[in-house]
Amino acid sequence: MEKQIVILGAGESGVGAAILAKKKGLKVFVSDSGIITKENKKVLSNNEIKWEEGKHTMEKILQAKEVVKSPGIPDDIEIIQAIKLAGISVVSEVEFAFRYTKAKVVAITGSNGKTTTTLLVGHILKKAGLDVLIAGNIGVGFAREIANRDYSYIVLELSSFQLDGIKEFKPNVAIILNITPDHLNRYENDFSKYIASKLRITMNQQKEDVLIYNRDDKQIKANLKTKAKAIPISINKQIAGNGAFYKNNKININLNNKKMTIQELALQGKHNIYNSMAAAIATRILDVKNDIIRQSMLDFQNIEHRLEYVLTVHGIDFINDSKATNVNAAWYALESMTKPVIWIVGGVDKGNDYDEISEIVKSRVKAIICLGESTKKIQKYFNKIVGKIETVSSMEEAVRSSYQLGDKGDVVLLSPTCASFDMFDNFEHRGQEFKNQVRKL
Ligand code: ADP
Repeated sequence: MEKQIVILGAGESGVGAAILAKKKGLKVFVSDSGIITKENKKVLSNNEIKWEEGKHTMEKILQAKEVVKSPGIPDDIEIIQAIKLAGISVVSEVEFAFRYTKAKVVAITGSNGKTTTTLLVGHILKKAGLDVLIAGNIGVGFAREIANRDYSYIVLELSSFQLDGIKEFKPNVAIILNITPDHLNRYENDFSKYIASKLRITMNQQKEDVLIYNRDDKQIKANLKTKAKAIPISINKQIAGNGAFYKNNKININLNNKKMTIQELALQGKHNIYNSMAAAIATRILDVKNDIIRQSMLDFQNIEHRLEYVLTVHGIDFINDSKATNVNAAWYALESMTKPVIWIVGGVDKGNDYDEISEIVKSRVKAIICLGESTKKIQKYFNKIVGKIETVSSMEEAVRSSYQLGDKGDVVLLSPTCASFDMFDNFEHRGQEFKNQVRKL
């Protein structure tokens, strides 16, 4: 019997990989232990792809030539162990799709800022008139798009889980924005494993490739090994050779002694200076003209749920930063606030160490509104640091209480520092609910 490709997990990446495999003439079987959405079932059937749901039939799976695993499935579960033990190669959709493209690839990872930087790089390349696909962890499946047609440039947002499943994936330009603790539950609570996973983005790069990295990040600095041409970015230090740094309110870029500066950025906040520096270098390397880069930095539209300004009601600003699901993202949100903050925080705590933000909270926050599962930990930690802490049980109450506590000239910031699954479907749902309630005030 002809050996087949088995796809585990029939979400966006799995279904995309199945379509691509089929198009390339491979025999495919899709297996999902949960229930496959109606829509995806239809897509699979229309493409004459066999599938099963609610189970994994091991006899079938163990006949695979290769298994493409959804990034949502952890490596340590029994079935993955059995597949590996049988000597079958397990890869991610990114690895699989990469085999079928001739595009120049820009790949972006980090604990925070991936989506913003990916969209910014994509925006600049599109503005330069290039044929660009933006894909990866961002909602649009890489494999599904490649199954339709190839592109000249591909910008990929990559999570650590996607990087865990690569073997030969080799981006022309890689970006590592930062590495701070997140998702440690998937890495046996071992930070060094998570760091190693992020650094895989450069593991196959050679000297003709480029790696852009944040030199202010201690973890990156201490652990980085690469054969690629490494180009640093920094806010803290001036960089002498190739690289980018921020000084006197300007981004300074130097590549092979060609210099450029960028002064005006549409995106606010210190974190976005890193994102903008990385995007500017990546696109300069791909020969985009300076003017186009500068113009793109100015007209880039901020993305929903990332420090998104909502409304000002009676002199109180409301800002939605629902995507801030860890301490580091919240630090940058608070750091960029110039008015007294009423901070809405809480949800599913992924192991937050609040010591990392206690100083910035002390200097910016006048009141805390706790919402969701981790209320007790937040109360306990911050009650000596912040004068006023209230606990609420719905977003409606959170918005109303923050409004009542606020004075003209204050800002209400939803930057939850936690995941959203205790009360909401996802961070988008949480941010949307916040905005709905603000609009009702
Ligand atoms: P990701 O895709 O890595 O989750 P996003 O661009 O969606 O990153 O941003 C996630 C959160 O992190 C938002 O709250 C955003 O304001 C914040 N953020 C964005 N860029 C950075 C950065 N370079 N460093 C720290 N926080 C950042």
